[in-house]
Amino acid sequence: MAMGMNRRTFVAAGVGLLAAPMILRETAAMAATGDNTKMDATTQPEFTQFKLGSYKFTVIRDGKSVVEKPNETFGTNQPAETVQALLAQNFLPTDKFVNSYAPFVIDTGSEVILVDTGFGENGRAKGTGQLAAGLKAAGYSADDITIVALTHLHGDHIGGLMEGGKPAFAKARYVAGKTEYDFWTDKAREGTPAEGGHKAVLANVAPLAEKITFIGEGDAVVSGMTAMLAPGHTPGHMIFNIESDGKRLIATGDTANHYILSLQNPTWEVRFDMDKAQAAATRKKVFDMIASDKVPFIGYHMPFPAVGFAEVYESGYRFVPKTYQFDL
Ligand SMILES: [Zn+2]
Repeated sequence: MAMGMNRRTFVAAGVGLLAAPMILRETAAMAATGDNTKMDATTQPEFTQFKLGSYKFTVIRDGKSVVEKPNETFGTNQPAETVQALLAQNFLPTDKFVNSYAPFVIDTGSEVILVDTGFGENGRAKGTGQLAAGLKAAGYSADDITIVALTHLHGDHIGGLMEGGKPAFAKARYVAGKTEYDFWTDKAREGTPAEGGHKAVLANVAPLAEKITFIGEGDAVVSGMTAMLAPGHTPGHMIFNIESDGKRLIATGDTANHYILSLQNPTWEVRFDMDKAQAAATRKKVFDMIASDKVPFIGYHMPFPAVGFAEVYESGYRFVPKTYQFDL
């Protein structure tokens, strides 16, 4: 019965037909395991919660997109067959891939920090922009958020900042990278490929400028959460080092955006990396640290729930998704 209800609600919600078979298959798989909580995730956004030291993390799925031709996004400096062979070897389709979006909340007990904001209202027609509903499902209201921290200012990270022309998180202050903000708000972006991003930042971030703390390398968002510059994807892209009671996690933002293609081959060029050589160098630096320090990471576009570990594998890294490490 729940299955039928989900399907009707789903169709009524007007979610794209392309995504429908996949989501219904997932629903069927969840029904087979008897997991009713997860079944609701097809109409209510998925989220996952875990503790790290005394911090409570809530990772929310803002949505997902199906993207054609993975080799035109990842490994653009490689023959298409090379990229497709690696996908096939990893039991993945070669003609399309799923891109997923994972903003998350760190509840420190005194602050409720949201890292990145998904697509917001402009994504809803396509089934993304589910952060607000996900927060609610996880027991948070938008007004509970005290700080919004941004890894970088691409549309899938800043779209949720404004809602109906007003700040979506009315009680929050903001933390963003100075280099990043200065780059995107610069009028010099007009008439360049970055013009769309420039306009999005003017619409969604600039109105909040008075409440933004601009930070750089080594600066703290709060005690226990520090920014590290990780440029290449964008000029001021940042990652966050988060520590509580001796436990540590790195939020890698968009440092690596495919758990196989980018992690196993960090030097493969990625369409969305603005400085491809710098992005590759940053990928190696960040994931060398994650692998050698054996710390978990949240990667915004990693397979949901987007939390895992990385170990050195051949000339790159192997992604090891989290299972019960945080439950014991
Ligand atoms: Zn992104």
